[in-house]
Amino acid sequence: MNFRRQPNPNRNHPSFCPYCAGTDLFPDDEDDFAWKCQECLRIFSVRFHGQDDAPVAPAPAVSSNEALQRSLARRGHTTAPKA
Ligand SMILES: [Zn+2]
Repeated sequence: MNFRRQPNPNRNHPSFCPYCAGTDLFPDDEDDFAWKCQECLRIFSVRFHGQDDAPVAPAPAVSSNEALQRSLARRGHTTAPKA
């Protein structure tokens, strides 16, 4: 018989208590996301709900050759020098 629960991959690990900034935190059995602060005895949950898209997407990166050609063009060269 195994009494141990399966690990919760969505459980986040807080570094500090959000109420007293204590660092003496332990998982609590209130629910799968609960933590107990040993300093102020509060029980709280930390949960990740997802991530929004960035408001501005960066331009796609150009290839190394294209970047080299652009750099050379900015300095007045039209072709890459022979190696
Ligand atoms: Zn606390």
